[in-house]
Amino acid sequence: MLRLPRSPKTPNLPRLLSKLSALIIPHSCPLCSRMVDREGAICSACLSQIPYIDRQTCSICGNILGFDYDPGEILNYTCGECRLHPPPFKKSLSAAPYEGGMKKLLRKFKYDGKEFLGGEIASIIFDRCKEMISGNNFDIMTGVPLHIKALKKRGFDQSFILAEHIGGMSGLSQTPEIIVRIRDTASQTHLRRRERIENVKGAFRLAENAAAIIKGKKILLVDDVSTTGGTIRECAKTLMKGGAKEVSAITAARA
Ligand SMILES: [Zn+2]
Ligand SMILES: [Zn+2]
Repeated sequence: MLRLPRSPKTPNLPRLLSKLSALIIPHSCPLCSRMVDREGAICSACLSQIPYIDRQTCSICGNILGFDYDPGEILNYTCGECRLHPPPFKKSLSAAPYEGGMKKLLRKFKYDGKEFLGGEIASIIFDRCKEMISGNNFDIMTGVPLHIKALKKRGFDQSFILAEHIGGMSGLSQTPEIIVRIRDTASQTHLRRRERIENVKGAFRLAENAAAIIKGKKILLVDDVSTTGGTIRECAKTLMKGGAKEVSAITAARA
């Protein structure tokens, strides 16, 4: 398969410091500081406290529903949003709710420069989404890209790191830079749900030469957190318009 160039990795001080300290200080669990046998490993006690999504979710977009239904009566329940506006993706699945241990892990991974946590987060995603990954015969896997400005600030692209590790576990290697984020939508925290969905519209375009790679292909997108589903929707729209056959997505957490 033709591989496009990787995202540039820029030097970044927190990332450098975290690498240096890992050489000097013995490894400890990033969540509780108990001693562990390797860098980035989460101790079994903390791992057991990263909850599964135990509330009922939409069978397409994976959003957590605000009510319960009897799965024995209604198989594959679809939320109102997906019925009114069918999304451009087949399915979006998350490994855990964005709370507790997973929230802490993702914050350390993204904002404290702890790039090495990507492997552990990816293994939680793989463990909880492996049936979907193996059951869909995907041709291509790719991360949802950061904007170049955010990439320079952070020094690494978290979703590419996650996809790279998931590739090692699933055998479906990552093809990076199929899509490009053309608008910096990094700071969305002040926006309401509907505003976030609007804000991310038109934020992506297909990378140069990517049309030939994705034509007729089944694509799996990887991202860290899905809040409104708007980012996944926009990426999937870009890929489907560009000629992909089908797009699905996995994320570490669902807000
Ligand atoms: Zn721990
Ligand atoms: Zn839905």
